Amino acid sequence: MSLRPWRDIARRKSRQIMVGSVPVGGDAPITVQTMTNTLTSDAKATIDQIRRCEEAGADIIRVSCPDVESTAAFKQIAKAARVPLVADIHFHYKRALEAADAGAACLRINPGNIGSSERVAEVVRAAKANGCAIRIGVNAGSLEKDLLEKYGEPCPEALVESALDHIRLLEEHDFREYKVAVKASDAFLAVAAYQQLAEAVDCPLHLGITEAGGLIGGTVKSAIGIGSLLWFGVGDTIRVSLSAEPEEEVRVGYEILKTLGLRTRGVRVVSCPSCARQGFDVIRTVQALEDALQHIKTPMSLSVLGCVVNGPGEARETDIGITGGGNGKHMVYLSGITDHTIADADMIAHVVALVEAKAAEIEAGSAVSMDTLHGKAA
Ligand code: SF4
Repeated sequence: MSLRPWRDIARRKSRQIMVGSVPVGGDAPITVQTMTNTLTSDAKATIDQIRRCEEAGADIIRVSCPDVESTAAFKQIAKAARVPLVADIHFHYKRALEAADAGAACLRINPGNIGSSERVAEVVRAAKANGCAIRIGVNAGSLEKDLLEKYGEPCPEALVESALDHIRLLEEHDFREYKVAVKASDAFLAVAAYQQLAEAVDCPLHLGITEAGGLIGGTVKSAIGIGSLLWFGVGDTIRVSLSAEPEEEVRVGYEILKTLGLRTRGVRVVSCPSCARQGFDVIRTVQALEDALQHIKTPMSLSVLGCVVNGPGEARETDIGITGGGNGKHMVYLSGITDHTIADADMIAHVVALVEAKAAEIEAGSAVSMDTLHGKAA
C-alpha cells in the first residue's frame, strides 16, 4: 500500500499497441512526442533536428509527409532515427503507402479523409505488411462538415463522434493497432472530448492541446489541459504543441509528467523566486544551472534557495542543495546534510561537478544492483 495515497494516479486501463519498439498504452510509461518543423525533403536538416529531440528525451517523433519528395526522404530519415517515427499524412493515401514502405512506425491518418473503402483497405494492408500502427487525429479545427452541421459548432460530442467514425473504418478492415487523439486549442473542449472518448473506447489515447500558443502561454495551457487529464488517469502518450522549437515541446512534456510523478528524467530543480534576503543572484544562477545541466539524464533533485528561511528544509528533501549565506559563502548540502561552503564565483561550476558526480554514483549504484540481481556481485 502506498504511504502517500494522495500522490497516486490510477491510470485508465487501455490496451497496448506498439509504435515500432515503443509500447503505448496499458502499463507502459507515458511517452513524450514531438514533431519536426524542417522541410522533410531536406533529410539532413530533419535528421539533425530529430537528433536534438532524441537528446531532449523524445520517445516518438512525428514527421510531415505532404508530398512525394518527403516520403522519398523519409526512408533515409527513418534509417537514421533512433526513435520510432510517425509519418503525418492528411489526404493523400498514396503518401501513407509510401511512408509505410519507407520505415514509418506509425501513420497519422484519418481513414475517413482518404476517399473510399478501397483506399482504407490499401492503407491498412500497407500498415499490416510493414508493422505500422495508425494514429487517428481528430482536430476541432478540421471537423467533418456533416458533424459541424449536426452539432452547430465543434463540441466534445462532435469530436468523439468523428473519432468513432474513423475507428469504425479501421475496425471494419480488422485493424486494431491504433491510438486516437481528439485535440482542440480550447482546453475545456479538448479535456471534455478526451474524457468522453476515454469512456467509449479502450485504445490508447494520444493527448494534446493543439495550437496551444507560444512557449509560456502554450506551456501553461498544455499543463492545465494535458495535466488535468493525466491527473485523472487519462492518456498514454502526449505531445505538447508549441510555437517553439520541438526540443522545447519535449522538455515541457517531461516537466508535466515529472510534476505528476509519471516519469522521471534529469535534474528536478527546486528553487525560490528570490527576494531581498537572497545571498546570491538566484534567478541568474538557476538559469545558468538549467542550461548547464541539460546533459544529465539521471533522475535526481537539486534545491537552489537564496537564504536560510526555506533553504535547509528544501535541501533536506533533495540530493544536492545550495542555500545562500552571508559574505558570499553559501552552504552546500549533500543528501540533505550540511557538507561544505562555496563562494559565489565558483558556484555554477561546482554545482555542475557535484551533479555529474551524483549522476555517476546513481548510475553505478543501479549497475551494481543490476549485477546483484544477475548474481554477478561478490
Ligand atoms: S528562500 Fe530566502 S531568498 Fe528565497 S524567496 Fe525565500 S526568503 Fe527570499
